[in-house]
Amino acid sequence: MKNVLVTGGAGYIGSHACKALAQAGYTPIAFDNLATGWAQAVKFGPFFKGDLMDAAAVDAAFAQYKPIAILHFAALSLVGESMADPGLYWRVNIGGALNLLEAAARHGCRNVIFSSTCATYGDQDGVVLHEETRQQPINAYGASKRAIEEMLSNFGAAHGLNHVIFRYFNVAGADPDGDLGEQHRPETHLIPLMLDAVAGRRPALTVFGSDYPTRDGTCVRDYVHVTDLVAAHVLGLQWLLDGKGDAVFCLGSGRGFSVREVIEYSRQVTNRDVPIIEGGRRPGDAASLVSGSERAMTELGWQPAHSSMADMIRDAWNWSQKPGYTE
Ligand code: UDP
Repeated sequence: MKNVLVTGGAGYIGSHACKALAQAGYTPIAFDNLATGWAQAVKFGPFFKGDLMDAAAVDAAFAQYKPIAILHFAALSLVGESMADPGLYWRVNIGGALNLLEAAARHGCRNVIFSSTCATYGDQDGVVLHEETRQQPINAYGASKRAIEEMLSNFGAAHGLNHVIFRYFNVAGADPDGDLGEQHRPETHLIPLMLDAVAGRRPALTVFGSDYPTRDGTCVRDYVHVTDLVAAHVLGLQWLLDGKGDAVFCLGSGRGFSVREVIEYSRQVTNRDVPIIEGGRRPGDAASLVSGSERAMTELGWQPAHSSMADMIRDAWNWSQKPGYTE
């Protein structure tokens, strides 16, 4: 039996992960409270509606499906919100992970893949960020994710849980087949907001800060296609099932794009202008976050084949043009 519990399986990244798992011969069990996920995004295996804060629901999911592994995506993940309400982030992200790992330990599930983030690194003067770079988060979102990385180590030592930690850079794009895409309520991410402005669903994109110490004054991020990102998770699952043990991998394209550069790519892909408002900085934003993802390539055999900026914007644009897409 190859059941895999996917927390956040109805969300943006989790739903793409379910598709990749199903294509690789696993049965993804989407565990989601639908707070930000979409029931219609659960297409590739059973749906278990539940909240990670509800220990009994988590326990019931393990009892029913006896998963061989967990992919843990479900979390609050907005930098700005985490700055405004840090208690929410500590309570939900830590409490949810704790219920999950305790249930895994009780039910003898030994393999955990965890969605961590480049936000655990904080602001490091534009240096390329590697797995060994010191983590010093500057926002509560990053701090909560770093704490869960430590939780995984503790549970590994005490209960034999093995883990692969993926530190994501900025995930973008949509399923190239058009089955799935990015759709948050409310949307806060650069590329979908930009495309909404291009399509006239919003009046303009606000550029958050033009006075950063970067090449054009706007924040630099490393964007990775969601299809590439979830492919790494399937490789990470195989890694754990092969008994290769605990590991940490950064997942990015290795190339940084400023907000203005992303806007320029959008012009090229869509042939339309992006209406812009120059705004102030968003609290908690680092100036530059760029990955060194060599370890994932050399050790996992990962190839971010879809992660050119043009491909990510094109797939996101196609998704946002589909009937039924709402802002
Ligand atoms: N950004 C922006 N305007 C927006 C949303 C985002 O200028 O309306 C910038 C943001 O400051 C950051 C980058 O775009 O530098 C990516 O932000 P996003 O929220 O997509 O991802 P994050 O980096 O927070 O994970």
